[in-house]
Amino acid sequence: MTETRSTCPYCGVGCGVIIESQGDQITGVRGDPEHPANFGRLCTKGSTLALSASAAVTRQTRLLQPMRREHRQEAARPVSWDSALDFASESFAQIIREHGPDAVGFYLSGQLLTEDYYVFNKLAKGLIATNNVDTNSRLCMSSAVAGYKQTLGADAPPTCYDDVKHAQCLFIVGSNTAYAHPILFRRIEDAKAANPALKIIFCDPRRTDTAEIADLYLPIQPGTDVALFNGMLHIMLWEGWTDPAYIAAHTTGFEALKATVRDYTPDMVAQTCGIKKEDLLQAARLFATSAATLSLYCQGLNQSSSGTAKNAALINLHLATAQIGKPGAGPFSLTGQPNAMGGREVGGMANLLSAHRDLANPQHRAEVAALWGLPSVPSTPGKTAVDMFQAAADGEIKALWIACTNPAQSMPDQATVRRALERAELVIVQEAFATTASCDYADLLLPATTWGEKIGTVTNSERRISRVRPAVPAPGATRHDWAIAVDFAQRLERRLPARGAGPLFPYSLTDEALGVETIWNEHRESTRGRDLDITGMSYAMLEDAPQQWPLHEGQNTGKVRLYEDGIFPTADGKARFVNTVYKPVAEPRESRYPFSLTTGRLRDQWHGMSRTGTLGRLFGHVAEPSLQMNAQDMARRQLLEGDLVHVTSKRGSIVVPVQASPELALSQAFMAMHWGGEYLSGQSSSGEALAGVNALTTSAYCPSSKQPELKHAAVKILKAELP
Ligand code: SF4
Repeated sequence: MTETRSTCPYCGVGCGVIIESQGDQITGVRGDPEHPANFGRLCTKGSTLALSASAAVTRQTRLLQPMRREHRQEAARPVSWDSALDFASESFAQIIREHGPDAVGFYLSGQLLTEDYYVFNKLAKGLIATNNVDTNSRLCMSSAVAGYKQTLGADAPPTCYDDVKHAQCLFIVGSNTAYAHPILFRRIEDAKAANPALKIIFCDPRRTDTAEIADLYLPIQPGTDVALFNGMLHIMLWEGWTDPAYIAAHTTGFEALKATVRDYTPDMVAQTCGIKKEDLLQAARLFATSAATLSLYCQGLNQSSSGTAKNAALINLHLATAQIGKPGAGPFSLTGQPNAMGGREVGGMANLLSAHRDLANPQHRAEVAALWGLPSVPSTPGKTAVDMFQAAADGEIKALWIACTNPAQSMPDQATVRRALERAELVIVQEAFATTASCDYADLLLPATTWGEKIGTVTNSERRISRVRPAVPAPGATRHDWAIAVDFAQRLERRLPARGAGPLFPYSLTDEALGVETIWNEHRESTRGRDLDITGMSYAMLEDAPQQWPLHEGQNTGKVRLYEDGIFPTADGKARFVNTVYKPVAEPRESRYPFSLTTGRLRDQWHGMSRTGTLGRLFGHVAEPSLQMNAQDMARRQLLEGDLVHVTSKRGSIVVPVQASPELALSQAFMAMHWGGEYLSGQSSSGEALAGVNALTTSAYCPSSKQPELKHAAVKILKAELP
């Protein structure tokens, strides 16, 4: 038996695993006792990784060779890699020649490794000269990115997991940590057991299992977070709980915010948020007066048409009370996916460039062009996720390359996304599993390696970079995601006019270990002098232990906590208060659509269930899809447990059994995001077949982060008539 140290491919906690294998079979997995994210622990999903990898269903659903469809109505047939990538590169070159570089787009995934992301980004922005490269991380954490940058000056979570045990107050908001980040939640449970004085505030419209550990629960109305945070600041100012010395020395912009929050009186906020005034006062007191307050937040803040304002308003509280830059304190955004952070680091989004550079900044564009040996990188903003699929639906984007994600299920307003995939002249899907809904639209399917086979690095929520190592050989004709992108890029480079002095992708495809490390070294060099400088971090160093960034050349270890010196990465070294104003959800409840539908994760499933859906035991917690709602709402509509209901928004409709849940307040409903077409079919408002809850959700997005409001759609719920 061989043992290989690697990283769990599910959530952003980034737990270390030890994979046991025999020959080409993964036979077991256990938590890595030396990995600082989990110290040997694994949750249900992580601990069943080996079972799902070896399950018969998984083996049957793997995509093992390139497949091409000449016409959309035909079945795909196997082709060689040469044939597949020559077809792909010639088709891309032709579309670029006829329509320009912005006629193509790449849609990536927070489950790709950092090296995969780096190559795709260079391929789009460097070789093709389009910024149309975005990712499903846009649906996950782009509001957190914008919030950090607007306030603290850099997209860098300033805290770490260890801060949980140093905190005296935990403010968990918009995060069902117990389900979405289970091993981090164990730390919270440990901290509570070790320190009875620790106070935990939990704020979320749903009273999820995370609420069980809270001393104070704030059941706010959906989307009212900014009102809550501004109201807390109003009270802190009134009570003298802010830190004027810290504000004066380390921040700017407080006076304007102070004037704004004057209107957020406790009465107004209690009414807007639907909470008790005394609970609001208590939350403000605990947050401001505890020795150290750590906020943990996730999609409840991010997946919102006010996502950036919500993030900034929360960070405002930390700055106003000096709850930052010390052990146990700070705003800690939790990443949903295993490598949403790594994607941000290499600039794998439409508005970013390598090493946290901004596309809109001419100096940053010039720096990246110099790094890549190019005359320039384009300045035209790329299309972000929602706009990319809208552009394809409108005929503006002709070719879409989708890697390691399933937008036909996971994007909001699914009808538009499916129309985009139908209309695009060329759809290439790079995938490990042949069964995702997006595969149905592919002209070309490219088989990729997956967990247990891949090689590279990922970064978790606390800025810690870990190695991902292969335990078994790549099955069939599968290839690593970065290798597919490099092979394609090298072929495309020969078909397009030269942009640089030499070859742009000089990475070995025959020696994969060398190829991937060369990519890493190039990425590492791009970070020199940046906030995430990792010039001191090598693959050899990561062999010994995962490391946090920044880690400068000559250093042995990374930085555990940021801003302890009170200096921020802004022009004047000061953090910036953002003058945040509360705006309601994009699609408020109204008489025709009287329910607030929210979406979220189950404990034991992951994304579209390609991997977790292959194991019967992971259905033990929740066996089938349901719509959860308040028991009183059900009684008023004469609905009984298990009755089928039509859930309908302005965009589509699904039929699903209803279930009473004590987690939901009146007029609210919840559905898990995971269930796809095999479990939950629906249709668009014009009758097209759709699947899952995103038949209903809205693509309205935050104007700053472009992150869509997956956490709220107005729906009606009607009992389905039996035929
Ligand atoms: Fe994997 Fe997240 Fe569970 Fe850790 S907490 S084992 S990273 S799913």
